[in-house]
Amino acid sequence: MDTRKLKKFIKLHWIKLTLLIIGGALLILVIYMVILGIRSFITLESFYKKMTLAGIPIQLLFSIVTAFIFATIYTFMWIHMIYGGGLAKLGQKKIKSTQVNVKWKDVVGMESVKKEVAEVVNLIKDRAHLRKIGGKIIKGVLMVGPPGCGKTYLAKAIATETGLPFLAAVGSEFIGMFVGQGAARMKNLFKEARTLAELQGGCIIFIDEIDSIARPRVGITGLGGGISYNATINQLLTELDGLRQEENNIVVIGATNVREDELDPALMRAGRFDRKIYVGKPGLEDRRKLFEYYLKKTSYEASVDCSILARKTVGFSPADIANMVREASLIAVRNQREKITYKDLSEAYDRVVFGLKSGITLSEREKVWTAYHEAGHAIIAYLTHPTDDVIKASIIPRKGYLGYVGHTPSEEIHAPHKEWFLANIKTNLGSFVAEKLKFGTTTAGVESDFTNALQFAHNMVWRWGMGESGLLGNFYGLSRYTPWGGGMSLNISEKTKEKLDEDVQKIMNKCLKEVEEILTRERELLEYFAQELLKKEELEYDEIIEIFKKYGKEKPKDILPT
Ligand code: ZN
Repeated sequence: MDTRKLKKFIKLHWIKLTLLIIGGALLILVIYMVILGIRSFITLESFYKKMTLAGIPIQLLFSIVTAFIFATIYTFMWIHMIYGGGLAKLGQKKIKSTQVNVKWKDVVGMESVKKEVAEVVNLIKDRAHLRKIGGKIIKGVLMVGPPGCGKTYLAKAIATETGLPFLAAVGSEFIGMFVGQGAARMKNLFKEARTLAELQGGCIIFIDEIDSIARPRVGITGLGGGISYNATINQLLTELDGLRQEENNIVVIGATNVREDELDPALMRAGRFDRKIYVGKPGLEDRRKLFEYYLKKTSYEASVDCSILARKTVGFSPADIANMVREASLIAVRNQREKITYKDLSEAYDRVVFGLKSGITLSEREKVWTAYHEAGHAIIAYLTHPTDDVIKASIIPRKGYLGYVGHTPSEEIHAPHKEWFLANIKTNLGSFVAEKLKFGTTTAGVESDFTNALQFAHNMVWRWGMGESGLLGNFYGLSRYTPWGGGMSLNISEKTKEKLDEDVQKIMNKCLKEVEEILTRERELLEYFAQELLKKEELEYDEIIEIFKKYGKEKPKDILPT
């Protein structure tokens, strides 16, 4: 270690070193005093010896109390007056690049993002080259996207790939009780990064949940919170600008779950966070790869098909998928099996989506009702839904549901067709019709089904011009917000409202009629499906397909126009 490095080392660890020296000196002093005391005590006459001994307890107590009071006052002053938010240094995690160790090959299920990140890595690694050709040097990268999609993971991968030390902080750490505390913490973070950069040739600062400090700045309201908040973000901006003028290799990566237009625009200005990477939810192929990746770390049965799992988990984040595989392995262990089966994964899926099985036990009669109710949903979904597969039917109660039928499209649908909405309305009404056909009456179990169906029909008419009467427009587009308790008001006539509502009911009734026709025609299938469900309580994708095959029903192919 040459002198320059030694200096840096001292700069980085001066608090610890100072404490060590003071502590050592105090220890030596105490030992010396004790020896001195004992030596003079021995020379005393017996009367004085006794007197001295009698005084010790009270003296000891007095010293401890005094020391305690002084230590408290001193610490408090030291932190908040002399050092200005000195606690900032504590609680800040420093993870060295060797400890981060997220390898490039471990970044799975985010192919498109990976390319962008690879580019960032190259730009960081190749600064000298970049400068020669006059390219722009990256200082700030902002990762935007929903939680659980691997933003932290990617930041760590960048650190590993570039071989730079990694300093991680969370936005909420900068929100302190005292004015200036957040700003002081920010300053310390960058100070430490600069020192590390000089020692190791660069540094990556990762600030997660950056939105908690980077919302648009507020006007000074006279409250300490507002001022402190502004000071923190101002400090961040100053530090970012400072980085541009220096010869260092520090890159700041911010991550946020909120949309970028909800962040302070000053943050996005040139030379600050001017590179944005969107880390979204994985698509079908990405999900398949994620399942493969996580399952490979366990042992699972060869029959488990990752593409079916991927189809089943539309909307899952990588974290959800990891969680599902973890749950499945726990379930397998509990059942004393060495390999994860599809059934375990299916149960894990239910747990992730619907929560644990609830403690309710249904009476025999209610079980029968539920079985017919769910059979109604399943048959209509299977026979009429243009994009969705029926992946599961269950009459085991969970989190507020007595049973459920799972149906999902194989791919995310971003702008659904009219046919898609109609199929969803019909699927929701399937339960009501099945109950009526079987028992001649219906239950309150259809409440949430009706809510869903009505919402679909309402939006079709009110927003997307899918009603019969020919009224066109997104009528919510005319809504106005009236402040001071006025709330939202719709700027349309009563007559139009009535007509729109009529259209909604027309859609509902047309769907109902169609469902009645189908289930009356398929009465035998309804009976068989409900009885199978009663027997097994849960039917998986394969078992459901088998039932329909038995009755000569093929799942209609995707009928949507392309
Ligand atoms: Zn239902």
